[in-house]
Amino acid sequence: MGDDPVAIIRAKLMRVRLLSIPCVLSWSLVSACGQPDDPATAPDTSSTQTEVDTDTDTDTSSGSDSSDEASSDESDTTAGEPKARKSLVVALDGVRPDAMATANTPTLDALADGSWAPGYGGAHTGKARTLTDADTVSGPNHWSIMTGAIGAQHGVSSNDEVPLGDAEAFPHYLSLLESAAPSLGTAYLFTWGLDLAIPCTADYVKHGTDPTNTERVVALLNGSFEDDAGSANSAWTRGAPVDAIFLFLDDTDGTGHRFGFSPEVPEYLAAIEAADAQLGSILDAVKARPSFDQEAWQVVVTTDHGGEGTDHGGNCEACEAIFFLVSSPEVAGPLPDYDPDTQSGPRNFDAAPTALTHMGIDLPEYITGSSWHLGG
Ligand SMILES: [Zn+2]
Repeated sequence: MGDDPVAIIRAKLMRVRLLSIPCVLSWSLVSACGQPDDPATAPDTSSTQTEVDTDTDTDTSSGSDSSDEASSDESDTTAGEPKARKSLVVALDGVRPDAMATANTPTLDALADGSWAPGYGGAHTGKARTLTDADTVSGPNHWSIMTGAIGAQHGVSSNDEVPLGDAEAFPHYLSLLESAAPSLGTAYLFTWGLDLAIPCTADYVKHGTDPTNTERVVALLNGSFEDDAGSANSAWTRGAPVDAIFLFLDDTDGTGHRFGFSPEVPEYLAAIEAADAQLGSILDAVKARPSFDQEAWQVVVTTDHGGEGTDHGGNCEACEAIFFLVSSPEVAGPLPDYDPDTQSGPRNFDAAPTALTHMGIDLPEYITGSSWHLGG
């Protein structure tokens, strides 16, 4: 992808400009989702609307009218205590599904069949799809992964246009979560500098490297993390509750550009395996949380595009064919493959609606992506 310094500076300036625009949401998420808990009195527990309802009866109580919540009854067999919904979305930049299948990826494999944690299910397809109304480059696909909107909506069709996307009409899904329930602890971490130009009102925003951001996520999860100033004047206080994390790892793409995007390229496979190990350390931290048994995590993993030779772009099959994976206690069925004839099936921009659904948020109408919550 290349990190053009001029473009990055331009992006940062644009971000400052965009952040100065008040975020006016035309839909009433807050009223749809009820009042958030006071974070001071509800440490590490999501607000009411983000809890998995474990009642065995159909829930008709106020504020629980979504089919998602009604369907989540099966997720927990320990009746009584509702579990706090938690979301982790990890995007791996430029990972071809055939290379992922060739590489040794125990973490991704365990997510795909749900065996990474007791009581979890998993679903995976190696035949998902990128955006098809923009180049198979990072910029437009990153925008879509984070918003659930397609290129024609957010207006980003190239990397150069990343700072120009319409974040007011198509906000980052973590911004939607923050609007719905400000008490939620949210974090947005990425390696590719231009991702800083995608406005996000998450509590913590960090432009780092793959290894350092992995360490940050682990520390966020185990409560040891502290950072007075993220990259966007955001801060994280030690021990603060964490509810939703978005992490974009990038080294796989850089390796593909250097050595080739192919299951035949050992360096590329090694980069995928390194990302898998980083994801493994994060899941270990999830499972080690003292409150893990009282939590219902949804983990979504996808990629922005594939690649061919040492590049990607356009609509080559190896660039558009990607994977999509979801795991949670509620995942009960398989993921379909993407069908190019009907243009249905998993796309990378389904990540945002899938996470929002798990968190109990009614999807805004503009979201083109589908939710693969698979909760029945
Ligand atoms: Zn990319």
